Amino acid sequence: MHKLKQYSIDFFNLIFPDLCNACGQQLYHGEQQICTACLYDLPYTDFHVYAENAVAKLFYGRIRCQWAMAMLYFRKGTKAQRLVHQLKYRSQPDLGFRLGALLGEKLAVQPGEKPDLIIPVPLHPKKERSRGYNQSRMIADGISSVLHIPVGSTQLNRLRATGTQTKRNRYDRYQNMQSVFSLAGTAELRGKHVLLVDDVITTGATLEACGQVLLEGGVAKLSIAALAFAE
Ligand SMILES: [Zn+2]
Repeated sequence: MHKLKQYSIDFFNLIFPDLCNACGQQLYHGEQQICTACLYDLPYTDFHVYAENAVAKLFYGRIRCQWAMAMLYFRKGTKAQRLVHQLKYRSQPDLGFRLGALLGEKLAVQPGEKPDLIIPVPLHPKKERSRGYNQSRMIADGISSVLHIPVGSTQLNRLRATGTQTKRNRYDRYQNMQSVFSLAGTAELRGKHVLLVDDVITTGATLEACGQVLLEGGVAKLSIAALAFAE
């Protein structure tokens, strides 16, 4: 590399060093997005090794799942919350990919049946334009890079934005989610085991609505994976 160019890069890194998205410390050579100390320190759920975990139970009686899990506990003030915030509001699509790859490593060693296709929960196109990317798509791409399962992103569409769900009761949330999602085509999905991917599971209403549309569209089996679970 040209000396001046190398100098410029070093100088750039001095002013804008790559920082850990969880603790803000400078990253060392070989670390990507998250430092080694934080990787060990994240609030992992280990749900991938427990079939009857809290996320799976959340969907009991609501939607038929092969398995369901989330990688981290999402609690206020934790590194998991900071990572999700960086991913959603700080223009960090690469962080989504990195977290997705971490999630993929968990899924690679879980005993459950492997899916045929990964589908991220879609954003409303307006929201995706303003954010610049769909964070769930980035997570799905990260998972795909480890599991070598293709990602489909055009089949499932979000027809309207739903706004905040937190002040609604369960029935209202369910009503609010009806007719939010639709399928563009079903040929690729028919008879498949689909892994539905989201960033954070709170009430499960979004995933339930997406899952219903997919199952009605001919998907044979459904599984769910998310970065984090807000208890
Ligand atoms: Zn860190």
